[in-house]
Amino acid sequence: MKSTARWLAAVLFLVALLLAPGALHAQGPDEQALTWHEQSTTHFAILYPEGEEAEAARYATFVDQVYDNLTTLFDHRLETPVTLRLYPTLAAYEEINPLAGEVKGVIAHAQLGRREIAVLVPRTANLSDEEVINNIRHELTHLIIGDLSGDRLPVGFHEGVAQYIERPGRDQAAKVELLRQAREAKRLLSWSQLNAGSTVYKNPEIGYSQAVSIVSYLVNVYGFDRLVEFIRALRTSPGYRSALQATYGVPADQLERAWLDALPAYLDGRWQVNALWAYDLGPLRALVAEGAYASAESQLGEAIRLLETSQQSDVLGEARHLLALSQRGQDAGEAVLAA
Ligand SMILES: [Zn+2]
Repeated sequence: MKSTARWLAAVLFLVALLLAPGALHAQGPDEQALTWHEQSTTHFAILYPEGEEAEAARYATFVDQVYDNLTTLFDHRLETPVTLRLYPTLAAYEEINPLAGEVKGVIAHAQLGRREIAVLVPRTANLSDEEVINNIRHELTHLIIGDLSGDRLPVGFHEGVAQYIERPGRDQAAKVELLRQAREAKRLLSWSQLNAGSTVYKNPEIGYSQAVSIVSYLVNVYGFDRLVEFIRALRTSPGYRSALQATYGVPADQLERAWLDALPAYLDGRWQVNALWAYDLGPLRALVAEGAYASAESQLGEAIRLLETSQQSDVLGEARHLLALSQRGQDAGEAVLAA
């Protein structure tokens, strides 16, 4: 689920959507009263009622690009078309998401079992184009990682990954501040709590902020591809903790402690590093400088794939240069060995 930056309080109801996909098919009287028109794109069926033609056309300009980008990133395609349903009024949206009336921050959610994203259009009126696109990135990520994990990704990781995929915006620093306060007040949640039932939605200020910091930690230390591996491992694992251990080679408790130890650095600025939007080549630069060319080469391969997928062209240029240096370094090393 995506809510706006204030993290007012989110919604138990949405947990049901995440954890019991497909449970909610009932159509209320308002929804039935709407006549849905459809605009098809390559990957989406955009459903909208009379009067929302312009809004449907607006989404049609970018949703396929988001789909292509995210399915490349996760190396996992969803069965298409994905439904994007644009709700014109709170009354109609409440039929499928009753608590949206009480919680002003709710603007959209994803229904995994139906491969459907629902957007409450009036609540997006004050959002920039970039924020509207982010909203779709967030919800489509839920659909992709839900499917990739066989619907077994627990809610803390669901919200963590969906936020990590968003282009960093003005709410990011606010979340870091909330996390800082929670840490100082000793109110951080354990990973077990965070991934159990509805904790994230009952404690959105801490829950969302903490969830994204965990994903950020895992990607910073082990890379993005390993995160995808973890999500995929859930298909066949008895639970997320065993999937963590199988993927990262470290018990979940130990990973949790390491994340906690790294939290001060995250709060001090490390939060700004993001493999998709602000890649930090520092560690790879250091590997090349110290002559660890083989290790640098393999990690640069992953970095370059990510940088190409996320259009970070400046950093991509440097990564390619570092790759050439490490290949040249290895050739030189072999020449010395052969001499
Ligand atoms: Zn979400």
